[in-house]
Amino acid sequence: MSTVRVRIAPSPTGFFHIGNAKTALINWLYARKMGGTFILRLEDTDTERSKDEYSDVVCGALLWLGIDWDEGPGFHGDPDMGAYGPYRQSQRTELYRREVQRLLDEGKAYKCFCTKEELDAERERATAEKRPPRYNKKCRDLTPEQVAAKGAAPFAVRFRVPEGFTEIHDLVQGVVRTENKEFDDFIIVKPNGDAIFHLANVVDDGLMKMTHVFRGDDHMTNATRHVMLFNALGYDLPRFGHLPMVLDEAGKKYSKRLHGANVLDWRDDGYLPEALVNYLVLLGWTPGDDREVFRPRELIEAFTIERLGQSAAKFDLKKLQWLNGQHIRLLSVAELRARLLPILEKQGFDLASKPDAWLTQMVGICQEKIKTLNEIVEYADFFFVEPTTYEEKAVKKQWEGADAPARMQAIRDIFAQTAEWSVETLKHAYEDLCAKTGDALGKYIHPTRLALTGKSVGPGLFELAELLGREACLARMDRAIDYIRNMKES
Ligand code: GLU
Repeated sequence: MSTVRVRIAPSPTGFFHIGNAKTALINWLYARKMGGTFILRLEDTDTERSKDEYSDVVCGALLWLGIDWDEGPGFHGDPDMGAYGPYRQSQRTELYRREVQRLLDEGKAYKCFCTKEELDAERERATAEKRPPRYNKKCRDLTPEQVAAKGAAPFAVRFRVPEGFTEIHDLVQGVVRTENKEFDDFIIVKPNGDAIFHLANVVDDGLMKMTHVFRGDDHMTNATRHVMLFNALGYDLPRFGHLPMVLDEAGKKYSKRLHGANVLDWRDDGYLPEALVNYLVLLGWTPGDDREVFRPRELIEAFTIERLGQSAAKFDLKKLQWLNGQHIRLLSVAELRARLLPILEKQGFDLASKPDAWLTQMVGICQEKIKTLNEIVEYADFFFVEPTTYEEKAVKKQWEGADAPARMQAIRDIFAQTAEWSVETLKHAYEDLCAKTGDALGKYIHPTRLALTGKSVGPGLFELAELLGREACLARMDRAIDYIRNMKES
């Protein structure tokens, strides 16, 4: 196993956002590629917004995507997995306290007794004078005696920002240099004793021995603070890689309110996790060749951090749909069947009365066409429910012509007379008929499809007819012929 240690550190405050999923994927792919370790850490310090059920949601989403972790918190009473735990920030407060004490002892942090009122007043003054609001460093150089004199007064802990500059050699963004004086002595512990995100994040990454941190570029400015803290705490610095955000189709940051922001929306819409994984990776990474369709293991093989892109890509639903279709075709019929039957069952279709081989054959003839798993319902419903209505536009096109009744009757005769009920015999009978009448095959195929399925698109006609069986096909032809007759009379 290599020394690469990477992580995803979501805050369990709601659903798992697709942006998080993309970040998780990049870290996971890198770990798997390098034979390293992928860690799940829950940043649940926001006790008001973090909930246990949200942690379950995060795990559920990761597991659905097939992103497994080597170290992480235990769930529902199970122990943590890994030697660097605990993996929930809410269980690491003692470690934060110890590390902050070290910073205080070394003079790298200090207690700040300024009250909220004082700080607010200072901010208002700055705004009125059109200055950027900055901390006035009132408590920066209190003597030990002055601190002692404060007695039990509440205090925050501030990080003493060092002089100079901080340079980050970001694996995605390149060299980012910032003057430290652009930062106030920022708070790392609140007056109530809670560690601030920056401190907890750095202590965890330091003590958990992360070698790389790939995360959204909304954390780029945080990274300067983090590097200063890493150095002050004496931890080995990980390599950072700040990834562009996922944008919506309009090019804006993918809002939490949009459908699809929740990774599991895609599951509910009938997308395959492997297709979403493929799609999300392509949003921030380019393969070296013109391939676009990758199974997860092929992604692991092809992945390199050198080809991570700097600019954000817009979400493109059409592309995702196309990829999903491609992944549906990559499944074996048995695999696809296992994913489709529960959807049909949920719809209330009677699968129990169908033989096993029939169900497999039905899945097989739909595999080439559907773009999402859920499409199976409108694609295959006619197998289970006889159509009683017909697509209006198709009726006009296929059944309104004067010769439609004769053509329908000729088809019915074929259905009644072919010796064998199979794709081949049906096909030959249609071809013979066309040879006799001089019509194109479509003249017979489309009206038949409408009669048997009520629709103008669907699985191959002879294949679906074979599966429906002679009796059902005859009954549906009769119903359609009646329908056409009534139409002509009214
Ligand atoms: N909890 C942070 C987030 O969800 C993690 C930041 C990081 O990856 O360092 O944005």
